[in-house]
Amino acid sequence: MSLWKRKKKADTPELERDTDDSRRNLNELVLQSIHEGVIIVGPDGNIRLANPAACELTGRSQSELDHVYYDSVINLFDKTGNRVSEGRNPINVALKTKEYGEVRDLDIVAADSNKSTPVSIIITPTSEENPNLIITFRDIDQELKDERERSEFISTASHEMRTPVASIEGYIGLAMNPSTATVDGRGMEYLKKAHEASQHLGRLFRDLLDTTKLDDRQIQPHFEPVDIVAEVKAIADGQIPNITAKGLGYQFGSGSVDQQLSGGKRINQLIYASIDKDFLTEVINNLIENAIKYTPAGWVTVNVRADNYNVQIIVEDTGIGVAREELTHIFQKFYRVDNRDTREIGGTGLGLYLTKQRVEAMNGRIWAESEVGKGTRFIVLFPRISDETYRQQKFLIDNQQAQGRESIDF
Ligand code: ADP
Repeated sequence: MSLWKRKKKADTPELERDTDDSRRNLNELVLQSIHEGVIIVGPDGNIRLANPAACELTGRSQSELDHVYYDSVINLFDKTGNRVSEGRNPINVALKTKEYGEVRDLDIVAADSNKSTPVSIIITPTSEENPNLIITFRDIDQELKDERERSEFISTASHEMRTPVASIEGYIGLAMNPSTATVDGRGMEYLKKAHEASQHLGRLFRDLLDTTKLDDRQIQPHFEPVDIVAEVKAIADGQIPNITAKGLGYQFGSGSVDQQLSGGKRINQLIYASIDKDFLTEVINNLIENAIKYTPAGWVTVNVRADNYNVQIIVEDTGIGVAREELTHIFQKFYRVDNRDTREIGGTGLGLYLTKQRVEAMNGRIWAESEVGKGTRFIVLFPRISDETYRQQKFLIDNQQAQGRESIDF
């Protein structure tokens, strides 16, 4: 018999009395007591509600936050110590796009104590009729410290293991080469399998090392102003041999949203962004390599679009697609969609993690849209810089280089 006596319905009057009011009180209690800061921002950008944890993180009292424009009271800083401008503020982006957003690379600085806390910010827009943003701020200081320790360990381990793996691969290669060894048919089959596995291990260690380099701050982005259409086209065109080798079609397109606004009249406008060229190369190559890998037949399309504030690079394919419930996970470390289609296709599950990491290090955002069996679209968004800013930054860099000094970052 169960130790717990089942209470009769009549014994639980409190449940019966669980009215709207008491439920509202419970909701209020949860909001007041959770450690996450919660702020609700209206469509006009004014704060409609803030819980005590949000007051502590922002260093402001309830009345200081009440009905005040979010950007005047929430101090967000990037990892280089600069206050996040309104154009780059994820809250501002969500107010415009009404889309879900998640960032982990900003610090919130308390107005009263100047205490800086690294936070994960999750922005969830509510329904169309009631268009508010629910913003949660979670302190991730300890989480980041743990991650750094873990990645230091992984970095050392993968560095140490790369050498023996390369040597195993080399010896297997020698054993498979008829001019250096004699192996019978069955032995050759085993060696082929061992060779593939050692190559996979080599790729895994290389990808692991690459991901930890940024976590450990062994590498930092070097920002420079670039003509983003020309840059992306040059990188994407470099993949044409791989795309055609798989028998896929390739298309590159670019355009400014301003073109559509000008009634279809083509304005030959250049689109600039401040990015790290090496990181951008890794990002575009990773996305196109995946598009090729996961597309049995059809097209790989790369597009660059822009409005006044942002640049979007869109890598699209007509491949196997990703199920809706998997989409939020594919950017996680080691995550690989496991189904009949993907099982045959090799990979480490680190490519998209690395891609997202690089994009965010360049103050960008990345997300994916997909339909199973139809294809996948990856969208990378960077803040756009004006022609004027481009010229100023370029002038400064050229000047620095003419004087033989180290390059400067923007
Ligand atoms: P992998 O090395 O497995 O390709 P990634 O991190 O690059 O690792 O991608 C993670 C998972 O996301 C892949 O295993 C695959 O299931 C899915 N994926 C990534 N890109 C695409 C794409 N273009 N089309 C379909 N699925 C994709």
